[in-house]
Amino acid sequence: MNLAKLLTTLIVLLGMVACSTSPTGRPQLITKSDAELEAQAAATFNAYRSTLPLSTDRDKIDFVACVAQAIVTELNPPYSDIEWELAIFEDKQVNAFAMPGGKIGVYTGILEITENEHQLAAVIGHEIAHVTARHVNERASRGTLTSIGIEALAVIMGGGYTGGAYTASQVLSAGAALGMELPMGRGQESEADVVGLEYMAKAGFDPRAAVDLWQNMSQAGGKKPPEHLSTHPASETRIENLISQWQKTLPIYNEALADGKNPQCKKTW
Ligand SMILES: [Zn+2]
Repeated sequence: MNLAKLLTTLIVLLGMVACSTSPTGRPQLITKSDAELEAQAAATFNAYRSTLPLSTDRDKIDFVACVAQAIVTELNPPYSDIEWELAIFEDKQVNAFAMPGGKIGVYTGILEITENEHQLAAVIGHEIAHVTARHVNERASRGTLTSIGIEALAVIMGGGYTGGAYTASQVLSAGAALGMELPMGRGQESEADVVGLEYMAKAGFDPRAAVDLWQNMSQAGGKKPPEHLSTHPASETRIENLISQWQKTLPIYNEALADGKNPQCKKTW
C-alpha cells in the first residue's frame, strides 16, 4: 500500500471511531449502536418496574413528574423528540438514574434529601445529562461494562429465560450493565454536572441549588454513604466545579425566569 492510500485509510478509520464529541466538546469514542443500547435499556427499565415496588404517593409522583417534565421540555433534538418515561420506586435508597432511550427512575429515598424542586432538578438534570452525553455508549465502547451485568442483561433480554418474574439481583445487575449503578468516570461525572446545570437553569430552576443538594447528600451519608453518593462522590472539587459554572448558568436561569419559565413544582409533604 502506498503512503497516500495508507493515510486515506487511516483518516477514514479515525473518522469512523472518533467523529463524536460530547455536549461539552470532549472527543468521544463511540462504537456501539445507540439503538441496541436503547432496546436493552427499555427491557431493563420494564424489568425494574415489574420487580421493584412503584410509589403510589400522588404528591411524590406529581412532584417528580413536574420537575422531570420541565427539564425534558428544554432538551435539544433528538432528545426532545422522544417520549421520556418516568418511574418512581418506593425505596429508601438515595438514588436516581436515567437510561438511554429516555427512561428516568427516581427512588423515594432521594426525595427525603432533596429539600425543594430546585435540588430535585439538579438530580434529574444530572442523570439526563448522562443520557444526552451518551455516557453509557461511551462505557460500552470502552468495554468497561461489568461482565456480570451483561450476563444479567442477557437474561432479561430473553436469553433462555422463561419465567414470569426477574429476581431483584438480576434486575440490578442488568442496571449495572447499563451504567446506572456503577460509578461513571470522573470526566463523565463532572460533564453530567455541567450539562445538568444548564438543563435545570433553562427550565427555570436555580442552578445554585445543586451545591445544597450535594452538601445534603454528604451529610445524609454519615458513616456509610448512601448508594447514590457512593457512585457520585460529593468532593470539595465537585462543589468548586459547580460554583465555577454559576457565571455561565445564572444568566441562563435569569433569562428563563424572564421568559416566564417558573415551574411550580412544590414539595407538599
Ligand atoms: Zn452521575
